[in-house]
Amino acid sequence: MSSKAAMLNNQTAPSAAPPKGRQPALNGCPWHDVNAMLQSAGLRPTRQRMALGWLLFSKGARHLTAEMLYEEATLAKVPVSLATVYNTLNQLTDARLLRQVSVDGTKTYFDTNVSAHHHFYLEHNHELVDIPDPHLSLSRLPDVPEGYEIARVDLVVRLRKKR
Ligand SMILES: [Zn+2]
Repeated sequence: MSSKAAMLNNQTAPSAAPPKGRQPALNGCPWHDVNAMLQSAGLRPTRQRMALGWLLFSKGARHLTAEMLYEEATLAKVPVSLATVYNTLNQLTDARLLRQVSVDGTKTYFDTNVSAHHHFYLEHNHELVDIPDPHLSLSRLPDVPEGYEIARVDLVVRLRKKR
């Protein structure tokens, strides 16, 4: 039996796991979907916003700072200012198409996965990673003041390399 046949036989079971959580509506043509997302956020689909939306949402779940997206846009030769990147990210967050995760009070990441989930923060390279366990829960939440309810619990577990 040739090794080629063995390789072909191996391809019977696609093992790609479905993406975790709710993904932005990218079922059809991504370009069309980005357009639809911008429209749903009440944003005019300008070329700059379309390009930023494409960079953000065409690669699955991601955690990006405004600076990181600005750098990607620059590399992709998208003529856009850092201010526009910030504005667009904030507008998409207001429209709940992105979720903000703050670390250290100085770094703000924008998460394309807006479903409820928690994060590891890798201190050595400032990377935010989803905690794979969707069932993670806190054993006891604090009592909240009268008239309030908990909107969301954001847990960031900071990791450093063992010495
Ligand atoms: Zn995340």
